[in-house]
Amino acid sequence: MKSQLIDPFGRKVEYLRLSVTDKCNIRCFYCLPKGFNDFDCTSQHLTQDEIVRVVGAFSELGVRRIRLTGGEPLVRKDICQLSARLSGLPGVEDLSLSTNASLLAQHATKLKKSGVARINVSLDTLRADRFHEINGGKLSDTLTGLMAAKAAGFAPIKINMVAMKGINDDEFEDMVAFCLQHDFTLRFIETMPVSSAGRNASEHYLPLQEVEDRLKHRFDLLPGVMPGGGPARYFQIKGTRLRIGFITPISQHFCETCNRVRLTATGALYLCLGHEHKIELRQQLRDGISDEMLKQCLIDALALKPERHYFEENPTQVVRFMAKIGG
Ligand code: SAM
Repeated sequence: MKSQLIDPFGRKVEYLRLSVTDKCNIRCFYCLPKGFNDFDCTSQHLTQDEIVRVVGAFSELGVRRIRLTGGEPLVRKDICQLSARLSGLPGVEDLSLSTNASLLAQHATKLKKSGVARINVSLDTLRADRFHEINGGKLSDTLTGLMAAKAAGFAPIKINMVAMKGINDDEFEDMVAFCLQHDFTLRFIETMPVSSAGRNASEHYLPLQEVEDRLKHRFDLLPGVMPGGGPARYFQIKGTRLRIGFITPISQHFCETCNRVRLTATGALYLCLGHEHKIELRQQLRDGISDEMLKQCLIDALALKPERHYFEENPTQVVRFMAKIGG
């Protein structure tokens, strides 16, 4: 079925990023301030039944792909049960998950059985002291989780590395070697000025063209493709299976091909990562909105989808934390 979710610029929405909690067990400095603890009460979060209902409505309107995110999605206690219900919905063809992997060792096999098909892992450094400085966590937990995901049969596993000047810009080649060794896909991401935390990190902003040029000196990068419909531009290192993607929301935005919307754990539907336009669904669900009206509400919400973000022109626009919306 073709998507019935079409915005005023003719873009079809087929992809939902679903934040299942705003809570996170680490504090990446570009995402959440150090010591931040002002998370939503769990009672404010959509229940499992409410999430399944909203995703069901999205899938009936043609959304095929769902990515579970957070906060850290694995801190949500019912994540495996929720995944199993979502992957079983008619119309959902691809259920994936973004994680910092620190809790993945205990969840990997169950997630696979629950129908999660693909996993993305955030990993900015391979050095334990630096890892702790960036996010307060333990590198060994993330690496153990990552290897558990590999052993559980997830493939491809994508590593997301936020490339930051003066923070991890001496590690790009090491990360390439690590991904080659383990058969992971590597994606570099530019820092975005989302919330005060993201803006504080903008002094470390690195246009990814610089990373691409540097890697081209060292490796034979051929233009590549990667199934998945995301915004990354891919290359493949000649003679290897390694794909390297560049996600450039700042230096080369890709809004004209945007096919996604985002739902927060509290049921706010955001139409764009770079704007504050949203529709609140939770109260409507709790007030007994009918299935037909819920679908109409989602269709109508698309009218609010902005043409593009203005991270460069208006970097102070987004005040919510990335952990709230899930990246
Ligand atoms: N906890 C999960 C994880 O670590 O992947 C999912 C949520 S996290 C908010 C999703 C992604 O957003 C991560 O890859 C993270 O690095 C990225 N992110 C957070 N703040 C960012 C920022 N200011 N600029 C660029 N990426 C950011």
